[in-house]
Amino acid sequence: MPRHIVSGLKYLTAVELVRNGLSQKEVAETLDVDRSTISHYLNGRNLSWSSIEIAETITQMCPKDFLLLTYALLDDLEKTRIMVKTCSKSKWDAIVKDSCIACGICVDTCLMKAIVLENLKARIDSDWCCGCLICRDNCPTNSIEILEVENGY
Ligand code: SF4
Ligand code: SF4
Repeated sequence: MPRHIVSGLKYLTAVELVRNGLSQKEVAETLDVDRSTISHYLNGRNLSWSSIEIAETITQMCPKDFLLLTYALLDDLEKTRIMVKTCSKSKWDAIVKDSCIACGICVDTCLMKAIVLENLKARIDSDWCCGCLICRDNCPTNSIEILEVENGY
């Protein structure tokens, strides 16, 4: 069953990427699958609709559960990042306060790889933030604020 759910997640991602203007070739490269598979996805072939429904339910879970479950299913961090970024409907603004001590814990814990250390302070790329709050909950100085600025649900 997990394989079918992964196919459902890939289907949702492929549809969204095409909607965002990517060609089938670019979608195939992004998801690291061959073009005929993408073509099948876009035509709804070889997919069970229950898998797509389950995948849709996963994308609508809280951001942390969506991220962790997708990573557990795929066991591939890069594809997880792309799928979560593509299928997330919300947008987030991440703020790092001056109390940051540049310990790097948030850098290590962010599965979306949205955080870097710069000039002895964490900097978060909000475009890649999925709102999971893992960084915020692990920051020893409570220096991270994650705000939802758009909710597409
Ligand atoms: S975990 Fe907190 S204190 Fe450490 S680098 Fe990140 S924001 Fe700064
Ligand atoms: S909330 Fe924090 S850990 Fe989660 S994606 Fe955003 S920056 Fe990364």
